[in-house]
Amino acid sequence: AAKAQTGSHVRRYAVELDDRARAEAQLGAELRAALDTGQFRLVYQPIVSLPDARVVSVEALIRWHHPERGLINPVDFIPVAEQNGLIVELGAWILRTACAQAVTWHTSQASSTPVRVSVNVSARQLAEPDFADLVAEVLAWTGLSAHNLIIEVTETAVFRGGQSVQTVKDLHQLGVRIALDDFGTGHSSLGLLHTVPVDVLKVDKSFVDTITMAGRHAVIATALIQVADGLGLSAVAEGVETAEQAAELYRLGYRLAQGYHFGRPVAEPDFHGTVIAAETAVA
Ligand code: C2E
Ligand code: MG
Ligand code: MG
Ligand code: MG
Repeated sequence: AAKAQTGSHVRRYAVELDDRARAEAQLGAELRAALDTGQFRLVYQPIVSLPDARVVSVEALIRWHHPERGLINPVDFIPVAEQNGLIVELGAWILRTACAQAVTWHTSQASSTPVRVSVNVSARQLAEPDFADLVAEVLAWTGLSAHNLIIEVTETAVFRGGQSVQTVKDLHQLGVRIALDDFGTGHSSLGLLHTVPVDVLKVDKSFVDTITMAGRHAVIATALIQVADGLGLSAVAEGVETAEQAAELYRLGYRLAQGYHFGRPVAEPDFHGTVIAAETAVA
């Protein structure tokens, strides 16, 4: 009986794996159609200066508005797009759209200063031999200055092989700023700083979450701002959800932050941000 039961567990597991593989294959096929019929949108989340909550840049984040399934978040389809290669084409669309939008905001006076936009780039895109050329073309085509574009990479992506390390160097040479995303996690660590030029460390939300707790919880956030300061890099604290966290980050020396406390990702961010600024001032 025990054996039969184990067998049925194994079978159920196999069926579940099969279902999952099928669902992913289905999703992969739908991604193509989604790109062709305009189901993707970008939303933008402010990155603000502490303590005044002035918007200094925005991070572009992709959303999929599926006709039947509704809103699908990037964690549920970016890996699939990465797997089947569509991320290359999708990523080019993301880059063009984000850069064009940044220029539009400035020309339409939605922002009185030029808008800096941060774009996430995945391993497969970075490994493409012509990725730096694509970025140069998009900058020329949209008229965005290179120094107003920030490319967010992870260590995992940079070390995936191929051209990636050279591509990051080429991007930096163009004047594009390089941000190391999820810094401090397994995806991005100190080692990378010896290999590629980095301008910004994005300190992972996991280190911000515990910052206001007593004891040792702020040690890593403290160490990471010291690394950034010591190397002359900017540091952005990710995933700031409360005023207490913002105040503590400021006290530790952080001057840039991003998180729901300052603003969720939206289609049209408020570049003047006066409403939030009053609530979030921590100095
Ligand atoms: P990420 O680049 O680290 O982006 C930050 C994620 O944290 C975003 O999730 C954002 O909505 C979320 N977030 C921001 N503030 C808070 C907060 O205060 N609390 C909480 N709980 N979450 C917060 P999102 O948009 O779901 O994106 C998840 C990940 O998917 C991104 O992590 C990035 O790795 C990837 N991704 C998103 N958009 C793109 C894209 O256009 N291209 C590529 N290649 N990857 C993308
Ligand atoms: Mg990011
Ligand atoms: Mg991040
Ligand atoms: Mg992250």
